[in-house]
Amino acid sequence: MAHSFYQDVMRNFEKATKFLPYSEGLMATIKECNSVYKMSFPVKDDEGKIQLIEAYRVEHSHHKLPTKGGIRYADNVDQDEVMALAALMTFKCAVVDVPFGGAKGAVKINSRTTSVPMLERVTRRYAMELIKKNFIGPGIDVPAPDYGTGPREMSWIVDTYSSIKDGELDALGCVTGKPVGQGGIQGRTEATGLGVFYGMREVCNFEEDMTALGLTKGIEGKTTVIQGLGNVGYHTAKFFAEGGAKIVAIAEYEGAIYNENGLDYEAVFQHRKATGSLLNFPGATNLENSNAALELECDILIPAALENQITAENASRIKAKMIGEAANGPVSADAEPILAQKGIIVVPDMYLNAGGVTVSYFEWLKNLSHVRFGRLTKRFEENSANDILKMVEEMTGKKATDVQRKTIIQGAGEKDLVYSGLEETMINAYHEIRHTYKSTQGCPDLRTAAFMVAVKKIATSYELLGIFP
Ligand code: NAD
Repeated sequence: MAHSFYQDVMRNFEKATKFLPYSEGLMATIKECNSVYKMSFPVKDDEGKIQLIEAYRVEHSHHKLPTKGGIRYADNVDQDEVMALAALMTFKCAVVDVPFGGAKGAVKINSRTTSVPMLERVTRRYAMELIKKNFIGPGIDVPAPDYGTGPREMSWIVDTYSSIKDGELDALGCVTGKPVGQGGIQGRTEATGLGVFYGMREVCNFEEDMTALGLTKGIEGKTTVIQGLGNVGYHTAKFFAEGGAKIVAIAEYEGAIYNENGLDYEAVFQHRKATGSLLNFPGATNLENSNAALELECDILIPAALENQITAENASRIKAKMIGEAANGPVSADAEPILAQKGIIVVPDMYLNAGGVTVSYFEWLKNLSHVRFGRLTKRFEENSANDILKMVEEMTGKKATDVQRKTIIQGAGEKDLVYSGLEETMINAYHEIRHTYKSTQGCPDLRTAAFMVAVKKIATSYELLGIFP
């Protein structure tokens, strides 16, 4: 029997709790969604006709505030999906030590076929509904982009919020993923894709695990297939290519393209922008059925589009050695044991795509502190490094080249700090998950281990609150 996305998340949660010593009551407290808000509101379309819009905001866990999670625009979204995504956010934040509870929002609308003025009216009205019911605020619930939304929608939300909450000092922290000129942070746009890269690179850095797959250590040269060339897929492709991986296929909803010698992701992106389709990219083979790309032979498969892409139906045909879940929920709970039996490593979404929320956390910190990271330190670091370099030059009688000088004395700016904070987060979290996986007898997969790590941290916070002594 097929399970819903929410049921799948709950099944995965329960798989992990079997290995944990907590009471049923505590597990139920952690598992259930705390608040589910379904709304309908009217918006006039471009012809002046009234359209009734269906939307959601789910706050899964209030164990830490604010709650945090993206807003999805999709015409097939429903309450079950939003609850599943909100729950995943709780566990995701815990895995990467981001001190928020999980939430998710959605508007049932197709962002590709809806005009920009209509999208703006819908977004502003959605923000008003959230404000009215106290479902948004820098200390309450902080949305971010997800499928179908981006910095533009976040800027409409922060503008709506600030105009209602005139004078609220921390108003900019009501939403993350904003444009940099409107309180955003450098590095947020690419953060999820960059996190996917840091995560998969760390997975590939364990020689023993790579040998078991018949592969060599490191991400360099790994053949990679990417499904979805949106925000996450595009940036994952970019950092994988820069890290030396070979992108052999890219899939979008209209079809997929393949070239065993590798695809230039930027040229593919520009080709799609110009022609409206991935297909007929010079030098590549067309795969009319987009899903066929998932079944190609490769080292790493990155589903970066939507949930339920690898299910019990196609799992047995997957030939990738590793699957990196850049999207949320692309591997169904029924598919997981089939993949495990084939020896495929599945790197779970709750860890791998946490780069977005990690950098959202940095953005929120920036908004609350009202100062750009590096502003107080960059020049100081550069002056100190310059003094040290001068001393070394005097002592050795050798002069550094201009390139060496530039590298040595460069102080960290906002983007450098964001990238290094994200890299540190992704490396540490993977080590924690892998350690739990290896040291728990009978632990079936990395996802179960990631859930264990997350649930332990959340349980501790309830203990600290004195609720479950
Ligand atoms: P996006 O809208 O920018 O991109 C999604 C892309 O997938 C689009 O280009 C779309 O055309 C494509 N697509 C849709 N159906 C497809 C199909 N059947 N086959 C191939 N391609 C298809 O969205 P995004 O922000 O990149 O999000 C993608 C996934 O990553 C979602 O699951 C989202 O929840 C997850 N995610 C996003 C972020 C973030 O920061 N944006 C963070 C964490 C997780």
